Amino acid sequence: MTHPPVFPLVVAVDGPAGSGKSSVSKEVARRLGYGFLDTGAAYRALAWHAEASGVDTDDAASVVSCLESFAYRIGTDPSGYAVHVGDVDVTIAIRDPWISAVVSRVARVPAVRAHLIELFRGIIAAEQAPGIVVEGRDITTVVTPDAPVRILLTAAEEVRIARRSAELVGDQALAAGEQLHRRDAADSKVVDFMTAAEGVTTVDSTELDFEQTVDAVIGVIRAAQPEAVR
Ligand code: C5P
Repeated sequence: MTHPPVFPLVVAVDGPAGSGKSSVSKEVARRLGYGFLDTGAAYRALAWHAEASGVDTDDAASVVSCLESFAYRIGTDPSGYAVHVGDVDVTIAIRDPWISAVVSRVARVPAVRAHLIELFRGIIAAEQAPGIVVEGRDITTVVTPDAPVRILLTAAEEVRIARRSAELVGDQALAAGEQLHRRDAADSKVVDFMTAAEGVTTVDSTELDFEQTVDAVIGVIRAAQPEAVR
């Protein structure tokens, strides 16, 4: 029995920090003419909003109280998307290392996750492109467990740290490596993104360069949805 195609076609991509999932997912979306949703940006923006509101991110109840005033907007154009909290463009600010250092504290709060998961599902449902690549930590398992294409993008930790630190030197490179390790350890207590759930295809990019990783991901999409990728 053939099923009618469901739009947008969701490509769910999970993986640890530094696995390249953001840049790879973006490029895959660009090549296929799909939308792209960076879900980590929402957790980062909420951490920014909590700090900007003077909230202690260690206190879960206070973080939850911030959700009411969290006016979050993000685009899905893989060639350039802005992230807004209210009228403030936080696209650049949320990449700051201090956000990376505190973001896991807001992401571990169950009410935060429930709120953002609904938000992501709304953005996915509203996508106008024929498909959307959605990347994060719990996309294949919680946000869209029924997605027709589900991928876990991994790489050995030393390779991920080396990629993250490539433009840094000395102490900065060391600190970036330590932070990546710490963040993955904290995040993986909340969601398991180190092992592929049933039906999820692992793409290990340890020995692949960027182009090869993009090709490998497109290969997985093609195998699952031959009609979608010619
Ligand atoms: O992907 P990125 O590094 O920008 O994610 C920032 C943080 O957001 C992660 O360290 C994690 O705490 C949280 N996150 C999450 N679930 C997702 C995406 C991100 O908990 N689906």
